[in-house]
Amino acid sequence: MQKILIVEDDPTIADTVALFLRKEGYQTEKARDGVAGLELWRHYQPDLIVLDIGLPKLDGLEVLREIRTHASTPVIFLTARAEEVDELLGLGLGADDYISKPFSPRTLIAHIKAVLRRFGGGSYESPTVLKLGLLEVDTYRVMATVEQEPLNLTPTEFKLLHHLARTPGRAISRFELLEASMPESDALERAVDSHMKNLRHKLGEAGVPDLIETVRGVGYRLVSP
Ligand code: CA
Repeated sequence: MQKILIVEDDPTIADTVALFLRKEGYQTEKARDGVAGLELWRHYQPDLIVLDIGLPKLDGLEVLREIRTHASTPVIFLTARAEEVDELLGLGLGADDYISKPFSPRTLIAHIKAVLRRFGGGSYESPTVLKLGLLEVDTYRVMATVEQEPLNLTPTEFKLLHHLARTPGRAISRFELLEASMPESDALERAVDSHMKNLRHKLGEAGVPDLIETVRGVGYRLVSP
């Protein structure tokens, strides 16, 4: 049974979401502030987190930052305004999806299913490690490393890198990358640019800044080592 952690200070929303998730066969835990949320994340080890942004003690952005220094647990943000989504995409925080309030539980469940499918649901072929020069992409451990050092990628960044690394040298369109990394999302192609920017930043910090090339008018390509 998959475990979902709900971090939301509004008890009505939290209870409604938990009720619907349990009806759908998920296990749930709830936390009402950011500190309790992080604590539960450590002990409960959820498969996915539904994370409100405006939270007491530690806001959702801080909670996500802390989680991302340790793990790629998929996160769906609950935002107070639709316009906030664009701002958040710009921040490149590494959330995997965003839902703005008010939302119907059915919508949330569709998003949760999509993110879980993307992240874990057997979407990868047989476990394998792709080795490209200093870079290794391990689809079994869902981990990418440069010279054995983990890159700490979000699930979406990992999928992007994996897709690029499968066919090094090939120019891949934004549309194809979008389909490969966020198949059930209604994200736009520019969302790929945002994730790609973060991915490149992490690769740069790991010492391989030029691994991914922009292919004008098409998308991206991983340079053959
Ligand atoms: Ca709130």
